Amino acid sequence: MASSVGVYVHIPFCTRICPYCDFAVEAAGDASAWQAREEAYVQALLAELALRQPRFAGRALASLYFGGGTPSLFRPDSLARIREAVEAAFVPAAEPLEITLEVNPSSVERERLPGFRSEAGVNRLSVGIQSFDDSLLKALGRGHGADASRQTWEAARRAGFENLSLDLIFAALHQTEAGLEADLAEALAAEPEHVSCYELVYEPGTPFGRAAAEGRLAPYSEEGSADMAERIEDRLGAAGYARYELTNYARPGYEAVHNRRYWQRRPVLALGVGAHSTDPPDAARPHGARHANPRMRAAWQEAVASGRWPLGEEEVLSQGDAMAEACFLGLRCAEGLDEAAFQAEFGISPRAQFGEAIARFLEEGLLEARGPHALRLTRRGRMLADTVCAEFV
Ligand code: SF4
Repeated sequence: MASSVGVYVHIPFCTRICPYCDFAVEAAGDASAWQAREEAYVQALLAELALRQPRFAGRALASLYFGGGTPSLFRPDSLARIREAVEAAFVPAAEPLEITLEVNPSSVERERLPGFRSEAGVNRLSVGIQSFDDSLLKALGRGHGADASRQTWEAARRAGFENLSLDLIFAALHQTEAGLEADLAEALAAEPEHVSCYELVYEPGTPFGRAAAEGRLAPYSEEGSADMAERIEDRLGAAGYARYELTNYARPGYEAVHNRRYWQRRPVLALGVGAHSTDPPDAARPHGARHANPRMRAAWQEAVASGRWPLGEEEVLSQGDAMAEACFLGLRCAEGLDEAAFQAEFGISPRAQFGEAIARFLEEGLLEARGPHALRLTRRGRMLADTVCAEFV
Protein backbone atom coordinates (compact mmCIF):
# COMPACT_ATOMS: atom_id res chain seq x y z
CA MET A 1 0.00 0.00 0.00
CA ALA A 2 3.02 2.28 0.06
CA SER A 3 2.04 3.82 -3.26
CA SER A 4 -1.68 4.07 -2.77
CA VAL A 5 -4.00 7.05 -2.40
CA GLY A 6 -7.39 7.65 -0.82
CA VAL A 7 -9.59 10.40 -2.22
CA TYR A 8 -11.91 12.47 -0.04
CA VAL A 9 -14.58 14.62 -1.70
CA HIS A 10 -16.15 17.31 0.48
CA ILE A 11 -19.66 18.47 -0.38
CA PRO A 12 -20.49 21.33 1.98
CA PHE A 13 -24.25 21.70 1.58
CA CYS A 14 -26.78 20.83 4.29
CA THR A 15 -30.52 21.44 4.42
CA ARG A 16 -29.99 23.13 7.80
CA ILE A 17 -26.92 23.93 9.85
CA CYS A 18 -26.72 22.15 13.21
CA PRO A 19 -25.78 24.52 16.07
CA TYR A 20 -22.74 22.45 17.11
CA CYS A 21 -21.28 21.96 13.63
CA ASP A 22 -17.75 23.19 13.00
CA PHE A 23 -17.30 21.67 9.54
CA ALA A 24 -17.02 23.66 6.30
CA VAL A 25 -20.77 23.78 5.59
CA GLU A 26 -23.39 26.07 4.13
CA ALA A 27 -27.15 25.96 3.75
CA ALA A 28 -28.25 24.31 0.50
CA GLY A 29 -30.45 27.36 -0.02
CA ASP A 30 -33.08 28.20 -2.59
CA ALA A 31 -34.40 25.07 -4.32
CA SER A 32 -34.83 26.90 -7.65
CA ALA A 33 -31.07 27.56 -7.86
CA TRP A 34 -30.05 24.16 -6.52
CA GLN A 35 -29.50 22.37 -9.81
CA ALA A 36 -27.10 25.06 -11.05
CA ARG A 37 -25.28 25.10 -7.70
CA GLU A 38 -24.82 21.33 -7.76
CA GLU A 39 -23.54 21.39 -11.34
CA ALA A 40 -21.11 24.26 -10.66
CA TYR A 41 -19.73 22.45 -7.64
CA VAL A 42 -19.25 19.19 -9.57
CA GLN A 43 -17.42 21.09 -12.33
CA ALA A 44 -15.16 22.73 -9.76
CA LEU A 45 -14.36 19.37 -8.11
CA LEU A 46 -13.40 17.90 -11.48
CA ALA A 47 -11.18 20.91 -12.20
CA GLU A 48 -9.49 20.60 -8.81
CA LEU A 49 -8.88 16.89 -9.38
CA ALA A 50 -7.09 17.66 -12.65
CA LEU A 51 -4.99 20.35 -10.94
CA ARG A 52 -3.94 18.33 -7.94
CA GLN A 53 -3.74 14.78 -9.26
CA PRO A 54 -0.10 15.08 -10.48
CA ARG A 55 1.27 15.13 -6.95
CA PHE A 56 -0.40 11.72 -6.39
CA ALA A 57 0.17 10.38 -9.93
CA GLY A 58 0.77 6.67 -10.45
CA ARG A 59 -0.75 5.67 -7.12
CA ALA A 60 -3.31 2.91 -6.72
CA LEU A 61 -6.75 4.14 -5.68
CA ALA A 62 -7.57 2.51 -2.32
CA SER A 63 -10.69 4.40 -1.23
CA LEU A 64 -13.13 7.12 -2.21
CA TYR A 65 -15.11 8.95 0.46
CA PHE A 66 -17.94 11.42 -0.13
CA GLY A 67 -18.24 13.48 3.06
CA GLY A 68 -19.69 16.78 4.10
CA GLY A 69 -21.88 18.52 4.71
CA THR A 70 -24.52 16.22 3.32
CA PRO A 71 -23.14 14.70 0.12
CA SER A 72 -26.29 12.63 -0.36
CA LEU A 73 -28.03 15.87 -1.37
CA PHE A 74 -26.26 15.40 -4.72
CA ARG A 75 -27.86 13.21 -7.35
CA PRO A 76 -26.43 9.74 -8.04
CA ASP A 77 -25.37 10.79 -11.55
CA SER A 78 -23.35 13.71 -10.11
CA LEU A 79 -21.51 11.37 -7.74
CA ALA A 80 -21.03 8.92 -10.61
CA ARG A 81 -19.26 11.59 -12.70
CA ILE A 82 -16.91 12.37 -9.82
CA ARG A 83 -16.25 8.67 -9.17
CA GLU A 84 -15.48 8.02 -12.85
CA ALA A 85 -13.03 10.93 -12.99
CA VAL A 86 -11.30 9.84 -9.78
CA GLU A 87 -11.00 6.24 -11.01
CA ALA A 88 -9.58 7.44 -14.33
CA ALA A 89 -6.98 9.58 -12.53
CA PHE A 90 -5.34 6.69 -10.66
CA VAL A 91 -4.25 3.09 -11.05
CA PRO A 92 -6.86 0.49 -10.04
CA ALA A 93 -6.01 -1.21 -6.73
CA ALA A 94 -5.85 -4.98 -6.34
CA GLU A 95 -8.48 -4.84 -3.58
CA PRO A 96 -12.08 -3.88 -4.36
CA LEU A 97 -12.48 -0.11 -4.05
CA GLU A 98 -14.27 1.07 -0.90
CA ILE A 99 -16.65 3.91 -1.85
CA THR A 100 -18.33 5.54 1.15
CA LEU A 101 -21.15 8.05 1.17
CA GLU A 102 -22.36 9.96 4.22
CA VAL A 103 -26.16 9.96 4.29
CA ASN A 104 -28.60 11.83 6.51
CA PRO A 105 -32.01 10.31 7.18
CA SER A 106 -34.47 12.10 4.90
CA SER A 107 -37.06 11.05 2.38
CA VAL A 108 -35.23 12.66 -0.57
CA GLU A 109 -32.06 10.74 0.14
CA ARG A 110 -33.96 7.54 0.85
CA GLU A 111 -35.38 7.52 -2.66
CA ARG A 112 -31.89 7.90 -4.10
CA LEU A 113 -30.32 4.97 -2.25
CA PRO A 114 -30.71 2.46 -5.11
CA GLY A 115 -29.12 4.97 -7.50
CA PHE A 116 -26.24 5.68 -5.15
CA ARG A 117 -25.46 1.97 -5.24
CA SER A 118 -26.09 1.05 -8.87
CA GLU A 119 -25.16 4.30 -10.62
CA ALA A 120 -22.59 5.96 -8.35
CA GLY A 121 -21.02 2.65 -7.25
CA VAL A 122 -21.26 3.45 -3.52
CA ASN A 123 -20.73 0.28 -1.46
CA ARG A 124 -20.58 1.68 2.05
CA LEU A 125 -22.94 4.14 3.76
CA SER A 126 -22.24 6.16 6.87
CA VAL A 127 -25.68 7.03 8.23
CA GLY A 128 -25.92 10.12 10.45
CA ILE A 129 -28.47 8.76 12.93
CA GLN A 130 -26.86 10.30 16.06
CA SER A 131 -29.62 9.13 18.43
CA PHE A 132 -33.00 7.41 18.46
CA ASP A 133 -34.30 9.91 21.04
CA ASP A 134 -36.48 12.51 19.29
CA SER A 135 -36.17 15.04 22.11
CA LEU A 136 -32.36 14.87 21.92
CA LEU A 137 -32.36 15.14 18.12
CA LYS A 138 -34.57 18.21 18.35
CA ALA A 139 -32.35 19.82 21.01
CA LEU A 140 -29.32 19.13 18.79
CA GLY A 141 -31.05 20.98 15.94
CA ARG A 142 -31.07 17.93 13.69
CA GLY A 143 -33.48 17.91 10.78
CA HIS A 144 -34.62 14.31 11.26
CA GLY A 145 -36.41 12.18 13.81
CA ALA A 146 -35.85 8.59 14.91
CA ASP A 147 -38.52 7.20 12.58
CA ALA A 148 -36.76 8.73 9.57
CA SER A 149 -33.55 7.00 10.71
CA ARG A 150 -35.31 3.64 10.96
CA GLN A 151 -36.82 4.06 7.50
CA THR A 152 -33.50 5.09 5.96
CA TRP A 153 -31.74 2.13 7.55
CA GLU A 154 -34.33 -0.31 6.22
CA ALA A 155 -34.27 1.32 2.79
CA ALA A 156 -30.48 1.00 2.67
CA ARG A 157 -30.68 -2.71 3.39
CA ARG A 158 -33.45 -3.12 0.80
CA ALA A 159 -31.27 -1.31 -1.73
CA GLY A 160 -28.62 -3.98 -1.17
CA PHE A 161 -26.04 -2.16 1.00
CA GLU A 162 -24.10 -4.75 2.99
CA ASN A 163 -21.71 -2.36 4.72
CA LEU A 164 -23.49 0.20 6.88
CA SER A 165 -21.95 2.44 9.49
CA LEU A 166 -24.16 4.02 12.15
CA ASP A 167 -23.17 7.34 13.77
CA LEU A 168 -24.07 7.90 17.42
CA ILE A 169 -23.46 10.98 19.56
CA PHE A 170 -22.89 10.84 23.33
CA ALA A 171 -22.35 13.14 26.31
CA ALA A 172 -24.84 15.41 24.57
CA LEU A 173 -27.06 18.01 26.27
CA HIS A 174 -29.73 16.34 28.43
CA GLN A 175 -28.78 12.80 27.38
CA THR A 176 -28.72 10.43 30.36
CA GLU A 177 -26.96 7.10 30.90
CA ALA A 178 -30.34 5.43 30.39
CA GLY A 179 -30.80 7.36 27.14
CA LEU A 180 -27.41 6.22 25.92
CA GLU A 181 -28.26 2.62 26.86
CA ALA A 182 -31.46 2.87 24.81
CA ASP A 183 -29.53 4.28 21.83
CA LEU A 184 -26.95 1.50 22.03
CA ALA A 185 -29.64 -1.17 22.31
CA GLU A 186 -31.46 0.10 19.22
CA ALA A 187 -28.21 0.57 17.32
CA LEU A 188 -27.20 -3.02 18.04
CA ALA A 189 -30.65 -4.29 17.06
CA ALA A 190 -30.09 -2.65 13.65
CA GLU A 191 -27.01 -4.90 13.21
CA PRO A 192 -24.63 -2.36 11.67
CA GLU A 193 -21.28 -3.51 10.33
CA HIS A 194 -19.61 -0.43 11.82
CA VAL A 195 -20.43 2.12 14.54
CA SER A 196 -18.87 5.56 15.06
CA CYS A 197 -19.46 7.18 18.46
CA TYR A 198 -18.69 10.88 18.83
CA GLU A 199 -18.78 12.94 21.97
CA LEU A 200 -20.60 16.26 21.53
CA VAL A 201 -17.95 18.96 21.35
CA TYR A 202 -18.86 22.59 22.03
CA GLU A 203 -16.65 24.11 19.36
CA PRO A 204 -15.80 27.80 19.80
CA GLY A 205 -17.57 29.95 17.20
CA THR A 206 -20.62 27.69 16.97
CA PRO A 207 -23.95 28.59 18.65
CA PHE A 208 -23.44 25.74 21.14
CA GLY A 209 -19.87 26.85 21.79
CA ARG A 210 -21.06 30.38 22.55
CA ALA A 211 -23.87 29.08 24.75
CA ALA A 212 -21.41 26.95 26.73
CA ALA A 213 -19.00 29.89 27.10
CA GLU A 214 -21.85 32.05 28.43
CA GLY A 215 -23.07 29.36 30.81
CA ARG A 216 -26.34 28.73 28.96
CA LEU A 217 -25.33 25.14 28.18
CA ALA A 218 -23.39 22.87 30.51
CA PRO A 219 -21.08 20.36 28.82
CA TYR A 220 -20.62 16.98 30.48
CA SER A 221 -17.76 16.74 32.94
CA GLU A 222 -14.67 14.85 31.75
CA GLU A 223 -15.59 12.10 34.20
CA GLY A 224 -19.19 11.94 32.97
CA SER A 225 -18.23 11.61 29.32
CA ALA A 226 -15.50 9.07 30.19
CA ASP A 227 -18.14 6.95 31.98
CA MET A 228 -20.28 7.04 28.85
CA ALA A 229 -17.31 6.15 26.63
CA GLU A 230 -16.61 3.17 28.91
CA ARG A 231 -20.23 2.06 28.71
CA ILE A 232 -20.09 2.25 24.90
CA GLU A 233 -16.90 0.19 24.79
CA ASP A 234 -18.46 -2.43 27.08
CA ARG A 235 -21.78 -2.73 25.24
CA LEU A 236 -20.33 -2.76 21.73
CA GLY A 237 -17.44 -5.01 22.75
CA ALA A 238 -19.84 -7.57 24.24
CA ALA A 239 -21.75 -7.56 20.95
CA GLY A 240 -18.62 -8.37 18.91
CA TYR A 241 -17.55 -4.89 17.79
CA ALA A 242 -13.85 -4.16 18.21
CA ARG A 243 -12.83 -0.63 19.17
CA TYR A 244 -10.21 -0.43 16.45
CA GLU A 245 -9.84 3.33 16.84
CA LEU A 246 -10.91 5.61 19.70
CA THR A 247 -14.23 6.64 18.13
CA ASN A 248 -14.77 3.68 15.79
CA TYR A 249 -16.02 0.14 16.28
CA ALA A 250 -16.36 -2.60 13.67
CA ARG A 251 -17.22 -6.21 13.19
CA PRO A 252 -14.19 -8.17 11.98
CA GLY A 253 -13.34 -7.19 8.41
CA TYR A 254 -15.43 -4.00 8.39
CA GLU A 255 -12.88 -1.46 9.61
CA ALA A 256 -13.10 1.64 7.40
CA VAL A 257 -10.41 1.49 4.73
CA HIS A 258 -10.52 5.25 4.07
CA ASN A 259 -10.56 6.48 7.67
CA ARG A 260 -7.65 4.22 8.61
CA ARG A 261 -5.49 6.05 6.10
CA TYR A 262 -5.52 9.18 8.27
CA TRP A 263 -4.40 7.33 11.40
CA GLN A 264 -1.76 5.44 9.41
CA ARG A 265 -0.52 8.70 7.82
CA ARG A 266 -1.11 7.46 4.29
CA PRO A 267 -1.67 9.90 1.41
CA VAL A 268 -5.16 11.31 0.98
CA LEU A 269 -6.10 13.72 -1.79
CA ALA A 270 -8.95 15.83 -0.43
CA LEU A 271 -11.07 17.86 -2.85
CA GLY A 272 -13.60 20.59 -2.19
CA VAL A 273 -14.25 23.44 0.18
CA GLY A 274 -12.25 23.20 3.42
CA ALA A 275 -10.92 19.72 2.58
CA HIS A 276 -7.67 18.55 4.24
CA SER A 277 -5.12 16.53 2.26
CA THR A 278 -2.21 14.40 3.41
CA ASP A 279 0.45 14.78 0.72
CA PRO A 280 3.03 12.03 0.21
CA PRO A 281 6.70 12.64 1.00
CA ASP A 282 8.96 13.70 -1.87
CA ALA A 283 12.51 15.00 -2.21
CA ALA A 284 11.53 18.53 -1.17
CA ARG A 285 9.27 17.36 1.68
CA PRO A 286 10.75 14.16 3.11
CA HIS A 287 8.06 13.95 5.79
CA GLY A 288 5.14 14.98 3.58
CA ALA A 289 2.83 17.95 3.89
CA ARG A 290 -0.71 18.85 4.90
CA HIS A 291 -3.01 21.03 2.84
CA ALA A 292 -6.26 22.68 3.89
CA ASN A 293 -8.43 24.16 1.15
CA PRO A 294 -10.18 27.52 1.74
CA ARG A 295 -13.34 27.16 3.79
CA MET A 296 -15.25 29.75 1.73
CA ARG A 297 -16.81 28.28 -1.38
CA ALA A 298 -16.38 31.48 -3.43
CA ALA A 299 -12.63 31.61 -2.75
CA TRP A 300 -12.14 27.92 -3.52
CA GLN A 301 -14.27 27.97 -6.67
CA GLU A 302 -12.58 31.14 -7.93
CA ALA A 303 -9.11 29.63 -7.46
CA VAL A 304 -10.08 26.40 -9.22
CA ALA A 305 -11.76 28.21 -12.10
CA SER A 306 -8.64 30.28 -12.71
CA GLY A 307 -6.43 27.17 -12.72
CA ARG A 308 -4.69 27.98 -9.45
CA TRP A 309 -4.13 25.34 -6.87
CA PRO A 310 -6.75 26.24 -4.28
CA LEU A 311 -4.45 26.36 -1.29
CA GLY A 312 -5.82 27.73 1.93
CA GLU A 313 -2.98 26.61 4.16
CA GLU A 314 0.02 24.39 3.60
CA GLU A 315 2.13 22.87 6.32
CA VAL A 316 5.34 21.08 5.36
CA LEU A 317 6.06 18.58 8.13
CA SER A 318 9.37 18.59 9.96
CA GLN A 319 10.76 15.36 11.35
CA GLY A 320 9.54 16.49 14.79
CA ASP A 321 5.99 17.05 13.45
CA ALA A 322 5.99 13.65 11.77
CA MET A 323 7.26 11.86 14.89
CA ALA A 324 4.57 13.51 17.03
CA GLU A 325 1.89 12.52 14.49
CA ALA A 326 3.15 8.94 14.35
CA CYS A 327 2.82 8.70 18.14
CA PHE A 328 -0.57 10.23 18.74
CA LEU A 329 -2.21 8.74 15.66
CA GLY A 330 -0.72 5.30 16.38
CA LEU A 331 -1.99 5.42 19.96
CA ARG A 332 -5.52 6.18 18.74
CA CYS A 333 -5.62 2.73 17.11
CA ALA A 334 -5.98 -0.68 18.75
CA GLU A 335 -2.68 -1.84 17.21
CA GLY A 336 -0.93 0.97 19.05
CA LEU A 337 2.37 2.61 18.22
CA ASP A 338 4.69 0.28 16.31
CA GLU A 339 8.07 1.06 17.87
CA ALA A 340 10.08 -0.88 15.25
CA ALA A 341 8.37 0.94 12.36
CA PHE A 342 8.96 4.27 14.13
CA GLN A 343 12.66 3.46 14.54
CA ALA A 344 12.93 2.41 10.88
CA GLU A 345 11.27 5.63 9.67
CA PHE A 346 12.97 8.17 11.93
CA GLY A 347 16.23 6.50 13.00
CA ILE A 348 15.38 6.89 16.66
CA SER A 349 13.10 4.91 18.96
CA PRO A 350 9.97 6.52 20.42
CA ARG A 351 11.26 5.76 23.92
CA ALA A 352 14.42 7.74 23.15
CA GLN A 353 12.45 10.61 21.60
CA PHE A 354 9.57 10.77 24.10
CA GLY A 355 11.21 8.88 26.98
CA GLU A 356 9.91 10.94 29.89
CA ALA A 357 6.27 10.98 28.75
CA ILE A 358 6.22 7.29 27.81
CA ALA A 359 7.83 6.20 31.09
CA ARG A 360 5.32 8.27 33.07
CA PHE A 361 2.30 6.93 31.20
CA LEU A 362 3.55 3.34 31.59
CA GLU A 363 3.97 3.91 35.32
CA GLU A 364 0.54 5.53 35.65
CA GLY A 365 -1.09 2.63 33.83
CA LEU A 366 -2.24 4.72 30.85
CA LEU A 367 0.08 2.90 28.40
CA GLU A 368 1.07 -0.75 28.17
CA ALA A 369 3.36 -2.85 26.01
CA ARG A 370 1.64 -4.81 23.27
CA GLY A 371 4.09 -7.54 22.32
CA PRO A 372 7.79 -6.71 22.15
CA HIS A 373 7.54 -3.78 19.71
CA ALA A 374 4.36 -1.82 20.30
CA LEU A 375 2.81 0.47 22.87
CA ARG A 376 -0.91 0.97 23.25
CA LEU A 377 -3.37 2.76 25.49
CA THR A 378 -4.81 0.81 28.42
CA ARG A 379 -8.55 0.93 29.10
CA ARG A 380 -7.96 3.86 31.44
CA GLY A 381 -5.65 5.43 28.88
CA ARG A 382 -8.39 5.26 26.26
CA MET A 383 -10.70 7.22 28.55
CA LEU A 384 -7.98 9.88 29.00
CA ALA A 385 -6.71 9.69 25.43
CA ASP A 386 -6.79 13.44 24.78
CA THR A 387 -4.48 14.05 27.74
CA VAL A 388 -2.08 11.28 26.70
CA CYS A 389 -1.96 12.23 23.01
CA ALA A 390 -1.47 15.93 23.81
CA GLU A 391 1.90 15.08 25.43
CA PHE A 392 3.33 14.10 22.04
CA VAL A 393 2.32 17.22 20.13
S1 SF4 B 1 -25.84 17.63 9.09
FE1 SF4 B 1 -23.71 17.22 9.75
S2 SF4 B 1 -22.43 18.45 8.39
FE2 SF4 B 1 -24.53 19.25 8.19
S3 SF4 B 1 -24.65 20.92 9.67
FE3 SF4 B 1 -25.37 19.09 10.74
S4 SF4 B 1 -23.53 18.24 11.75
FE4 SF4 B 1 -22.83 19.71 10.20
